[in-house]
Amino acid sequence: AAVPEPAAGRHVPADLPSRIQHYIGGAFVDSADGGTFDVLEPVSNEVYVQAAAGKKADIDRAVTAAKHAFDEGPWPRMLPRDRSRVLHRIADIVESRDARLAELESFDSGLPITQALGQARRAAENFRFFADLIVAQSDDTYKVPGRQINYVNRKPIGVAGLITPWNTPFMLESWKLGPALATGNTVVLKPAEFTPLSASLWAGIFEEAGLPEGVFNLVNGLGEEAGDALVKHPDVPLISFTGESSTGRLIFGNAAPFLKGLSMELGGKSPAVVFADADVDAAVDATIFGVFSLNGERCTAGSRILVERAIYDEFVDKYAAQAARVRVGYPHDPATEVGALVHPEHFEKVMSYVEIGKTEGRLVAGGGRPEGFETGNFVAPTVFADVPADARIFQEEIFGPVVAITPFEGDDEAVALANDTKYGLAAYIWTNDLKRAHNVSQAIEAGMVWLNSNNVRDLRTPFGGVKASGLGHEGGYRSIDFYTDQQAVHITL
Ligand code: NAD
Repeated sequence: AAVPEPAAGRHVPADLPSRIQHYIGGAFVDSADGGTFDVLEPVSNEVYVQAAAGKKADIDRAVTAAKHAFDEGPWPRMLPRDRSRVLHRIADIVESRDARLAELESFDSGLPITQALGQARRAAENFRFFADLIVAQSDDTYKVPGRQINYVNRKPIGVAGLITPWNTPFMLESWKLGPALATGNTVVLKPAEFTPLSASLWAGIFEEAGLPEGVFNLVNGLGEEAGDALVKHPDVPLISFTGESSTGRLIFGNAAPFLKGLSMELGGKSPAVVFADADVDAAVDATIFGVFSLNGERCTAGSRILVERAIYDEFVDKYAAQAARVRVGYPHDPATEVGALVHPEHFEKVMSYVEIGKTEGRLVAGGGRPEGFETGNFVAPTVFADVPADARIFQEEIFGPVVAITPFEGDDEAVALANDTKYGLAAYIWTNDLKRAHNVSQAIEAGMVWLNSNNVRDLRTPFGGVKASGLGHEGGYRSIDFYTDQQAVHITL
């Protein structure tokens, strides 16, 4: 497809692919029925490429290739050290191409280029981390003196189906690919249809790193078609899914007849709780970053800020002033802090919440398109104060640069408000009182808590949510556990 003329302010990377295909059994292929779908770029919302629209027949082909590589190929049988070497080479290649990856990701998703670069580096780190972990892996052995020795024989499971969202596409794909491959499985990846560009680079990276043919397969396409066929394929015993809670619920049902292993990282409406004894300036900085970085399209966004009454007015004033200074700009501009939302459909959804917010809270910053951006999916960082707990903008995941601030009085109300949603992914607590910090953290229904801290991940710790935010945990050995079977072998002495 010819790349359209750049609109004003738009950056089009050189050497874009002329089309995006599937990658099955070591070859780039089109859909069996020749079908394609449009891929838009979020600054102009113009179609810049066609991607192959995978359907059941394409998933069948990919699963056959992955199953063959699992049943007959070397990958599941290789020494962990040898698989680890391949994974380290993958990390090296990703690192060496971080600028190009970031350029493509930023163009396709609208993420600010500096943040896309951070995500590309994190993708490399995901491979490096699991490459190290797999050679350090030890399994349990138990002795019943004089009677039995019992040990764990850990085995890869088979073809893992990996289904990923569009918000940080390349990084989230690596978070699944790294452990799935490290443990010796073969995979079929179905990336998000809004952002297929960076995923199209995996095949070349894996070939160069020496991953055997058929171990990695990629099928593009819509969730209801390609994703659905992957979930319902009888030869795919595992599904690792990241996306919306409503999609997770659907997949859970569709996987039920097959009793598949499921790992689900779902939506969030995470609270940031700021007590009067906190370092208020540090809390303002961190909670600005917490909801406006990655365009607010972040599962762990601190999208509800709960502030103790004694500092509420001061906090709201400082927060609104700082939100107004957050720099909205073209995604490729290194000065940009908030870029363009991924797709016009998502833009409309976020803008509809901005309008709902105007009837539910007090608008203190933003509230629509930023000045100077008449087209494209740009939303000004938007702050609503005095938002009651029954407001839709308090309860529902917006997944954009929109935040609700609500006052509270005392620890009990803070915890009650923090827990008053169906979600339970992350929480952020700001206080200098040691006991309160621990007591409140432990009382909050969230899979992850950051205390006086930005969202910085330690890859060894559990990652996952409670309530509607997910099922199961990944991170460190928990990922290894998800992607392996632990067979108990008993020997009588
Ligand atoms: P989504 O649920 O719409 O789509 C995610 C993926 O699922 C896509 O690849 C899509 O094609 C596929 N899909 C859709 N319907 C399907 C079906 N019926 N069967 C199989 N696959 C299907 O989510 P999204 O809009 O791409 O992503 C945003 C959501 O992801 C937000 O809710 C966000 O919080 C969540 N998210 C969670 C985490 C986490 O780690 N908890 C991380 C990032 C994003």
